[in-house]
Amino acid sequence: MTATKTNGHTLAPIQASSLYFTPLPPTHVVPPGKESHGRYMLTIPWNRVSGWGQPKIGPRQDLTFDPLAGVLQYAVTCFEGMKCYKTDKGDLRLFRPKKNFDRLKRSAGRLGLPCEWDNDELLELFAKLMALEQPLVPSTDGSNLYIRPTLLETSEGFGIKEDAFAAEALLYVVTTLNLGLGLYPSSEGDKGIKLDACNEYIRAWPGGTGSYKLGANYGTVNISKKPGYAMSLWLHGKEDFISEAGAMNVFIIKEAPDGYLEFITMPLSNGIVLPGITRESIIELLQDHASDKRDFPLEGVPKKIRVVERDFSMPEIIKGLEDGTLKGMFGCGTGVVVVTVGEIQYQSQTYKIPSNPIIKVLRDTMTGIQRGKIDEGRSWSFQVPE
Ligand code: PMP
Repeated sequence: MTATKTNGHTLAPIQASSLYFTPLPPTHVVPPGKESHGRYMLTIPWNRVSGWGQPKIGPRQDLTFDPLAGVLQYAVTCFEGMKCYKTDKGDLRLFRPKKNFDRLKRSAGRLGLPCEWDNDELLELFAKLMALEQPLVPSTDGSNLYIRPTLLETSEGFGIKEDAFAAEALLYVVTTLNLGLGLYPSSEGDKGIKLDACNEYIRAWPGGTGSYKLGANYGTVNISKKPGYAMSLWLHGKEDFISEAGAMNVFIIKEAPDGYLEFITMPLSNGIVLPGITRESIIELLQDHASDKRDFPLEGVPKKIRVVERDFSMPEIIKGLEDGTLKGMFGCGTGVVVVTVGEIQYQSQTYKIPSNPIIKVLRDTMTGIQRGKIDEGRSWSFQVPE
């Protein structure tokens, strides 16, 4: 547990032991249309004078803010997307949750929101919330409980402030049932999803906020998605470099001149893409497979592979289709896990991307780890204590 000192004050840390719990009243009725939402929510208020307040778990309810709150006026809000899985034995798992907490801290720091807490304390509070929702968590493959931690400025964000930091904030966590239906309608089957390569709206640029999970990054680009396409494929620069797609990072699979199969994805160093936890995990799995570090195999994946983090563009994809070196493309993220990209619409042309069985191997490996069926030896799957 850490206590932070700011401006001479000792700020209270997030403290799981001070949790205040309000059970659902016996008369509790789920409001119509909210049946798929978790019954409870976790809230932890913060203010810059005293730090984190008492964490509370109680019935899910509406929030109220001053009309000039920073979240409403200037979109001072960031969030995370996580999933809670139920194993065949009925226990609950989270996938690398502290990675999400660290990314939330990073996003919060970018917005002048509180960004210091002890991840173990927060994880303990998460575990309590998950345990309460246990009956709601589905156990079938592809289904889970989606978790949405959100951190926002509740104080007035209006006018000229002394500094860039919020005076008051709220961290809350709500959940919603994900039955694996409807979210990505065109992802069924081996044909893969269709993406619309977009250079009309630009999602991110150097020095911008694309590498942070800010609400504003999503609200401003939702408008670009065309009907019939699963997501927009985000381009940037005059070369039409591919950054990512919708809510996922993107890899292409390409045959290199030396016979190696390369998994190419945009580097994080340019600050344009979100540092995806699925992306990072896949890179680790592939690199460990190539160097024989893991004691479970990526069945059917050759050893002569390498991961390359570099820019790649739409013209490079088109050239790879023409000369046969492009061997597949996939997106990855918490929502889709791993999904084949089957088709790209770009400058009024449709490009069919070859499918590759390796993509399914990656998907099955990731979902196996997430559901606690595969032990990758590094405790990526966190078992929620009962
Ligand atoms: N890019 C964007 C823009 C996203 O919203 C997400 C989903 N969080 C990702 C990539 C994938 O990140 P992760 O693997 O951590 O879910």
